[in-house]
Amino acid sequence: MSAAHWRSGSRSTNYPIVNDRPGPTRILHENAPKLAYGIDSVGGMNRFDSDTLDFAHSAERRIIHVDMDAFYAAVEQRDAVELRGRPVIVGGAPHRRGVVAAASYEAREFGVHSAMPTAAAVRLCPGAIRIAPRFAHYATVSQQIRSIFGRYTPIVEPLSLDEAFLDVSASQRLWGDAINIAQRIKNDIVRELGLVASVGIATNKFVAKIASDIDKPDGFVEVEMDKITEFLNPLPVTRIWGIGKVAAKRLADLGIITVHDLKRIPNERLIAAFGASGHHWLQLARGIDSREVVADHAVKSLSHEVTFAEDLDNDDELRATLTSLVENAAARLRAAELRASTVQLKIRHYDFTTRSRSRSFAAPTRSTAKFLSTAVGLLTTYRQQYRGAVRLVGVGLSGCGGAPTQSDLFTESVALDTVTDSINQRFGDRTLRRAAGLNNKS
Ligand SMILES: [Mg+2]
Repeated sequence: MSAAHWRSGSRSTNYPIVNDRPGPTRILHENAPKLAYGIDSVGGMNRFDSDTLDFAHSAERRIIHVDMDAFYAAVEQRDAVELRGRPVIVGGAPHRRGVVAAASYEAREFGVHSAMPTAAAVRLCPGAIRIAPRFAHYATVSQQIRSIFGRYTPIVEPLSLDEAFLDVSASQRLWGDAINIAQRIKNDIVRELGLVASVGIATNKFVAKIASDIDKPDGFVEVEMDKITEFLNPLPVTRIWGIGKVAAKRLADLGIITVHDLKRIPNERLIAAFGASGHHWLQLARGIDSREVVADHAVKSLSHEVTFAEDLDNDDELRATLTSLVENAAARLRAAELRASTVQLKIRHYDFTTRSRSRSFAAPTRSTAKFLSTAVGLLTTYRQQYRGAVRLVGVGLSGCGGAPTQSDLFTESVALDTVTDSINQRFGDRTLRRAAGLNNKS
């Protein structure tokens, strides 16, 4: 495996790696304290000493970002031996203007990436095997990954089916430091689920997320607090959330290419050019991000969005993308045993104009069909009013709650979704998919 560190401490980075070979599953509780103790002594100070522990950990948070490598494609390759080592594209059919939801690393070598039209992907990699997405199945696997996270911390904030933030600050007493916890999580995922995750460890969400991405696949990167500047400075500004192609071009015109460059220009100039975003970017460039990891049982909404590599102006493609976003969000909603009463559509145009439209139901539901027809209706109305190339599409389900309602229990489409989810969970049957999904057919 690869490992990278931006650490200043004197501690050895040769922590144990136990996931490289298949073998009997170790008994976690026997193994854990010994393993943690062995690598957790810093300068002779034993961190398991309760007097020093709380003091040591109150100073900085320890946040892990876990991001599965090529998740949907990796699940397909795991489930079907004949797909292993081959270029696999998970996405909608090319003749239906489908988009790529995930590409295996073998396909990525040909330049294929997610959110590109499947037709373009197939042109780049004619030998690729295309698989229609099985979101309900991915949601099940996602739940299995979640239950692994739950062994180490209750504070888990999923961003999508394949990524989550974990706050492990308070878990270190029990499981050893964040590095050890992250290593365990990677090991558990490989051993129990046959999938590979990249992890980033840092003192805030922004840095942890970049860290997990920078050494993919099978990444393992920790950024210590006093190494954040060194870590961020050489990175391109596009690593900063909210800086896409267009903003990056405008920044480049000002001579700003790297994070370091961004910090060198006067604050007022940045704010004059980019408004509040400029200020926000600068905070991130300095490595400042105080947002908490919000456990999802506290979450009242969930959303998915896609930023296109190339701005999109074709309504069929927008609808196909929206369909896959809704399928994904609805599967997550059901996996969390939640219902939603509002569907929100978010559109960002090539010029960064961002608008959202929403529609609410009288009673919360978890019906994909209901969410889908609502989202597509919102998009159709929106496009009648606003044309122009689109760079980002998002869908949000909110007003979430757990209690079922009468109408929900007897809604036919929900029964279908539930049956589909559970059959996919049990058999991984890829024939059970939504026929109405533009983006979702073989
Ligand atoms: Mg991923």
